[in-house]
Amino acid sequence: MSETRESSIEIGKEEFRKIGYKLIDDISDFIDSIDKRPVTPNEGPSQLQNILGNSSLPENGIASNELISKTTNLLFNHSLLNGHPKFLGYITSSAAPIGALADLLAASVNPNVGAHILSPIASEIEKQTIKWLAEFIGVSPNYGGILVSGGNMANFTAFLAARTAKAPKSIKENGISNNSDKLTIYCSKTTHTWIEKAAILFGLGTKSIRWIQTDTTNRIDTTILETTIKQDLKNGYKPIMVIGTAGDVSTGVVDDLSHISTICKTYDLWFHIDGAYGVPAAVIPKLNYLFEGIKEADSIALDPHKWLYSPLEAGCTLVKNPQHLIDTYSSHPEYYNFSHNEEEIAQNFYEYGFQNSRGFRALKVWLTLQQIGRSGYEKLISEDIQLSKILYHLAEKHPELEAVSQNLSITTLRYIPLDINNNDYLNKLNENVLNKLQTGGEVFLSNAIVFEKYCLRACIVNFRTSKKDIEEIIEIIIREGRKVHLKLSQTIE
Ligand SMILES: *Cc1c(COP(=O)(O)O)cnc(C)c1O
Repeated sequence: MSETRESSIEIGKEEFRKIGYKLIDDISDFIDSIDKRPVTPNEGPSQLQNILGNSSLPENGIASNELISKTTNLLFNHSLLNGHPKFLGYITSSAAPIGALADLLAASVNPNVGAHILSPIASEIEKQTIKWLAEFIGVSPNYGGILVSGGNMANFTAFLAARTAKAPKSIKENGISNNSDKLTIYCSKTTHTWIEKAAILFGLGTKSIRWIQTDTTNRIDTTILETTIKQDLKNGYKPIMVIGTAGDVSTGVVDDLSHISTICKTYDLWFHIDGAYGVPAAVIPKLNYLFEGIKEADSIALDPHKWLYSPLEAGCTLVKNPQHLIDTYSSHPEYYNFSHNEEEIAQNFYEYGFQNSRGFRALKVWLTLQQIGRSGYEKLISEDIQLSKILYHLAEKHPELEAVSQNLSITTLRYIPLDINNNDYLNKLNENVLNKLQTGGEVFLSNAIVFEKYCLRACIVNFRTSKKDIEEIIEIIIREGRKVHLKLSQTIE
């Protein structure tokens, strides 16, 4: 073997520069022209497989510049673009471009943010990011926490901490079947699917979930909540936690957090808030009333990759007393030599959650928070909400549209042909209209069932969307609605 490695995966300085500059040029053009591209190319799996070709694992290497330039075109031309100003589907935001630069930088240094000694500055940046996120949503900066891959993981991380805190202490050693079959958890029936996965994952089982009815405003009915808890206690169950949703997936409604918090105190239950979508709106002073009670939460899940415009993936768990995370996740195997400094304790993130080796996802969140600051976010989020209201009002005024709901930045509406009010037909019609819109490439909306109406749903967490886009979306819905109705009414007759 020669003195130096014949390493072939390294890219030399000059070549890295050349490839990198070209890539940055291409990305700049892509971002700059994103509004002129189709939202989605609407290609099926087999079409895409043909483009990729079905060759086997490459035996020999291919030049990096060729790979990067080919792949750039592949992604630009065959992706759904959630950064397009008319992408308003589900809850996926447009991504702040500084996040792309942050990911490049983070991957270049590649700290392992599992242990402080392996990621000295990155660990401190993550800690600061978490403190800033707590300040952002208006809870005490003494909340601690951890960044995770998204809302599901953020909720899971909090869920297991709640189980550790409120279930019998022996559960960690004995497991769940021996002592805790009767643990119960409470949430509204609008709660996101993560709750079922959590109940399965952490051994409680889905029967432990008490799906509480919502009231006429779609919030959890706190009277039924309290009655159910009392009844369970009487029947020998062991309630451990209540989940309040701050911005439900379908309609954006925020539960009465303050009332839930009072109930949790009365019955000594863990109070968790799923704020994956909506909690960043707490940055707007005018909306503080919606989030009253948030400061009492034992844990909060939020999702920087939703309304903080971070590129995927970034979720965050905040816990009022972070010791609960350590109680749940910490262990000290003999093969870790992570504490040196006697005077100062370094925070090792592997002790705060599920992951061991961890990437530096904090960087993109940390940088976007600084790029525009609290005041910039307050404006962006307010504008998203304002645009959502404009969409609602335009639908309200239009004779062929029905405005159904508007909360935070989610509006639901449906197309109603003049003189037609058969709900079954309208549901079928709107489902067809949505399919047409989702494949057309002009606009991307999703769906919601609200008061038994199949609705088109627009969730605006998109800093590129403008008033003009909203007006054009109305026109597109009307145009497609008429076409689909014409066709559907003929097939039915
Ligand atoms: C999006 C969402 C989730 C899931 O978050 P992911 O980042 O998709 O894992 C959970 N709860 C609510 C309320 C959400 O909006």
